[in-house]
Amino acid sequence: MTAEPATVSTADGPLAAAHQQLAEAARFLGLEEGIHALLAQPRREMTVRIPLRRDDGSMSLYTGHRVQHNVSRGPAKGGIRFSTSVDLDEVRALAMWMSWKCALIDIPYGGAKGGVAIDPRQHSTGELERVTRRYVSELADFIGPERDIPAPDIGTDEQTMAWIMDTISTGRGYSVPGSVTGKPLEIGGSRGRANATSLGVVHIALEALRSRGVSPEGSTAAIQGFGKVGAGAARLLADAGVRVIAVSDQFGAVYRSNGLDIHALEQHVARTGSVSGFNGGEALDNSLLLELDVQLLLPCAIEGVITAANAARIRADIIVEGANGPTSPDADAILADRGTLVVPDILANAGGVIVSYFEWVQANQAYWWSTLEVETKLTDRITAAWHTVQGEAKSTGRTLRSAATSIAVARVAQAHRLRGLYP
Ligand code: GLU
Repeated sequence: MTAEPATVSTADGPLAAAHQQLAEAARFLGLEEGIHALLAQPRREMTVRIPLRRDDGSMSLYTGHRVQHNVSRGPAKGGIRFSTSVDLDEVRALAMWMSWKCALIDIPYGGAKGGVAIDPRQHSTGELERVTRRYVSELADFIGPERDIPAPDIGTDEQTMAWIMDTISTGRGYSVPGSVTGKPLEIGGSRGRANATSLGVVHIALEALRSRGVSPEGSTAAIQGFGKVGAGAARLLADAGVRVIAVSDQFGAVYRSNGLDIHALEQHVARTGSVSGFNGGEALDNSLLLELDVQLLLPCAIEGVITAANAARIRADIIVEGANGPTSPDADAILADRGTLVVPDILANAGGVIVSYFEWVQANQAYWWSTLEVETKLTDRITAAWHTVQGEAKSTGRTLRSAATSIAVARVAQAHRLRGLYP
């Protein structure tokens, strides 16, 4: 198969990083040029305008995207983000990473991502509901249990998923609980979904510590981000005996060398909306959190926070990527040289989409599992993926990210070869 050469974006940013990771995997695998070109581009992408009737009667216009990167192994799968940082290139990168994540943990999905360029904090619940419903209405023909299954991401939550499920269901004329995951339990959500990403991150962090012969008790962690992923990870790490000495959010960071009281911090955040001002620790500069001398550093916020500009100052032994794309390829190279173990996003934060898969299976069968069943299956899947990736990295002398990406890309490429080209 010959084709136009794969587009490799040269600018900085998540899409350039995603293209570079794919190119490296393609080189390692000796991937056919045509398949590389195919995988470098999204299968389908949609950009929609979202006019919003504001509470005061005026109208504002927003832009949303949904990118289905690949659907060769099953329906497209991935979250929807509400954030002012959303643009098409970011969504393309995040969609590509979802394809690799789903292939790596071997669940029968392709990859997708969606986003609306909006600051959800500036809107009432009613406005967010109208934005969500209009965005999803515009995409409705392309969403559904066999087509594309959204989930929460930055700036969206269970309530957003309930509105999406209702919008799709109203359009179809019957309830379609399998059209979205991360829904409330009462309308077909899964037990264990809410903290699945955090649980997966912590399983992986503990495996990574073990691989370096370090016991959790007495080891230290710094966590960037105290939202859906970071807060749960902080709590579960503390439960495992790890001293969580620093935590940040977009407004500030707090530090306590003996370990923060995560329960008290969660109560402070519930009251004030931020970790800032917590009196159980001292204030810390946000950027310094990444440079603390800790065993575990967990970036659990946004992409592009560990770059060539700060990688050489990072002192953590192990980085576990709770966020998608927090480390740039330049930084990866610097960290590999320094012997830092980086556990890549597509493995570390896969717990969320693993339980999304369980939610979809349950919703499609209308038969519900216990929390224990969900968490046991999650642990089995993510631990198996850890061993596969670690084994591949060891036997080929590559980083965990290179190993994970090439395993995933090989699986997606093989699906294409087996299915062949139509017509
Ligand atoms: N947004 C999450 C992620 O980046 C979850 C995706 C899903 O469950 O579909 O993995």
